[in-house]
Amino acid sequence: NMGFLAGKRYLIVGVASDRSIATGIAEAMHREGADLAFTYQNDKLKSRVLKAAERYGSSEALCFPCDVTSDEAIDAVFSELGKQWDGLDGIVHAVGFAPANELDGNFVDVATREGFQIAHDISSYSFVALAKAGKSMLAGRNGALLTLTYHAARQSVPNYNVMGMAKASLEASVRYLAASMGPDGVRVNGISAGPIRTLAASGIKKFRSMLDYNAAKAPLRRNVTIEEVGNTAAFLCSDLASGITGEITYVDAGASTVSMPFELEL
Ligand code: NAD
Repeated sequence: NMGFLAGKRYLIVGVASDRSIATGIAEAMHREGADLAFTYQNDKLKSRVLKAAERYGSSEALCFPCDVTSDEAIDAVFSELGKQWDGLDGIVHAVGFAPANELDGNFVDVATREGFQIAHDISSYSFVALAKAGKSMLAGRNGALLTLTYHAARQSVPNYNVMGMAKASLEASVRYLAASMGPDGVRVNGISAGPIRTLAASGIKKFRSMLDYNAAKAPLRRNVTIEEVGNTAAFLCSDLASGITGEITYVDAGASTVSMPFELEL
């Protein structure tokens, strides 16, 4: 394989369905010649992840259970993966969650301390936890960490609520991890994806309107696909992006660059 990821090994965290952004990333990385390992959140998702893994040339031995709220589960992934691979070129973190009641209604009214803690733990701290646990396997290989974020980290979006706070925290973690791990050659980046219909997205109230609004607003007058996010992810994790770290790259058909929509009827 002459792809730009030939001979590279990545761990993909966040496949839940064929529509998952993580699946688009796995597809692009596999096409470019990478070897892939996967995690699944729980037994309910196991068979889907195994099926995806098989499609991308990975056996069940490279699929591990991992609920990211558990440090023990995260440590177990790397100790098991270490029995298969002597090193790792990158980790893709495509994980997010907030309780449903946080994502429906006026922010100040629906926000709770518990919802804040859950959203930040699963959607932000888990990226740091994976970096900590994966650090020794990434050593000496110019590895790359990548996470998925959304523009609601920077500008308010109706109903996104505490997830916007969690994404802001996640984007800060990209910069702190980049500073922290850069001296060891590890790069850390985020992709800010435009809205895409996935399982996680269906938890957001009026997601359909978000899709329509973004498509109308975006310079390309459409939404983006998991293939487009996947291609950018493969690039950012590869040596082609060797000078890029601590950065958030937008893959959103340009929507975030527009203040006043040009064709939206109000
Ligand atoms: P998805 O539902 O396919 O993926 C979300 C993943 O998070 C699932 O694989 C799920 O198993 C995992 N997850 C949730 N809680 C977990 C836990 N406790 N332990 C382990 N895994 C857990 O949806 P997606 O849209 O592909 O989401 C991937 C990432 O992309 C998320 O961070 C999401 O916020 C981000 N993102 C999505 C969009 C969009 O519109 N879909 C836009 C920008 C960013």
